[in-house]
Amino acid sequence: MTNRILIAGAGPVGLSAAAYLTQAGIPVTVFEAEDALPENLRASTFHPPTLDMLAPYGATQSLIEQGLVAPKFQFRDRANGCLAEFDFSVLADDTEHPFRVQCEQFKLNFLLHDWIEAQGGADIRFGHAITGLRQTENGVTALVKTPDGEEVFTGRWLIGAEGANSVVRQTLDIPFEGFTWDERFLVVSTPYPFEEAMPDLTLVNYFADPEQWFFLLKVPGLWRAMFPTRPEETEAEIFDPERIEARMQWAHSMADTYERTHTTLYRVHQRVAERYREGGVFIAGDAAHINNPLGGMGMNGGIHDAFNLAGKMAKVWHGEGDDGLLDLYEKQRRPIALDYVNSQTIRNKQNLEANTPAAQRTFRDFLAEVSDDPKKTHDYLLRTSMIASLRAAERITD
Ligand SMILES: Cc1cc2nc3c(=O)[nH]c(=O)nc-3n(C[C@H](O)[C@H](O)[C@H](O)COP(=O)(O)OP(=O)(O)OC[C@H]3O[C@@H](n4cnc5c(N)ncnc54)[C@H](O)[C@@H]3O)c2cc1C
Repeated sequence: MTNRILIAGAGPVGLSAAAYLTQAGIPVTVFEAEDALPENLRASTFHPPTLDMLAPYGATQSLIEQGLVAPKFQFRDRANGCLAEFDFSVLADDTEHPFRVQCEQFKLNFLLHDWIEAQGGADIRFGHAITGLRQTENGVTALVKTPDGEEVFTGRWLIGAEGANSVVRQTLDIPFEGFTWDERFLVVSTPYPFEEAMPDLTLVNYFADPEQWFFLLKVPGLWRAMFPTRPEETEAEIFDPERIEARMQWAHSMADTYERTHTTLYRVHQRVAERYREGGVFIAGDAAHINNPLGGMGMNGGIHDAFNLAGKMAKVWHGEGDDGLLDLYEKQRRPIALDYVNSQTIRNKQNLEANTPAAQRTFRDFLAEVSDDPKKTHDYLLRTSMIASLRAAERITD
């Protein structure tokens, strides 16, 4: 039996698994296709249980220092302001971190990378892209394109954490079932101080506006505004500076022109892989499930996969469990991706985009009902913070 675990992808999921396994004294090799850790703007919300999981690696404290602590979030509309505000402090008995942290996800990658390197034992290889794999009775062989040509690496198990276009998933012919939304999402980052214009704003604000939803979310030094685009809009139209300005002015009208630091457009999918395991090969994170960003569950759910799978691998590695324990990973995590993350993010989107008076009334009644009842508020925050999904996974034991 070969004596290490192979991980494809040095994103938040691959590095979380690598950190856990390193701490458990297990040698890992991580292959990252890029020459360095990417610094692109993607997810920016860390939920309470994710902060609990990352704390042993010093990452939570550093994310708090480098990011913004968001104890509350709001639903609003442009005409009425705040419709409902939810305060994570009611989760004080459920988590060590009863708040969200708003911080760019690439900062976590740097923190985990540095922590892993400081421990020694792990082999993180940049410019190494997995291109294929084979399974033998001794383990898994990965074919890897390196700066020096194609090389072969062997390990006891392989974790495919190389994102939505996972080569591992495709090599195993695992269907990625689901659909792609017609509309793409536009994210505009600006240093404009929305909090001065709307003093009651929290750091995370979902606008369930009757005309069109959008959200305003703060990361250090910047606000990110996200809008759905119309399916028929071309990229040239969407990126037209006048149209972007018009969108921003519609969201919040002001005398000056908005200064913009980043503008990103991306396709949004709701897909869950048909299987998470085949023999000694596992997929996790975006390789296994992708969803819309409303609720910030994609990256967090992927990190929860990583800790679940790495925890089981560590037990089996150290002789504290048999191979059947590894089957429990898919049994616990795939239903969560389907029944919690996928359905919750679809519901979040549908609630926000409600555009008939009746649908809007239903959503506003729901918000009032939940915020008026402490038990319902608590249950709602357990769901939105993803604690409920982790508890549901724990209840699945075979
Ligand atoms: C533009 C954009 C915006 C997003 N915004 C949000 C948001 O606002 N909120 C939210 O919750 N989520 C958001 N997401 C989703 C979120 O970023 C992902 O859920 C998260 O990054 C998943 O982490 P991961 O480690 O599974 O995959 P990734 O972060 O994609 O990491 C995979 C890594 O694998 C590497 N890789 C790829 N192919 C190979 C290969 N063949 N061999 C080796 N390495 C490889 C990649 O370079 C990358 O470093 C966004 C995604 C995108 C693309």
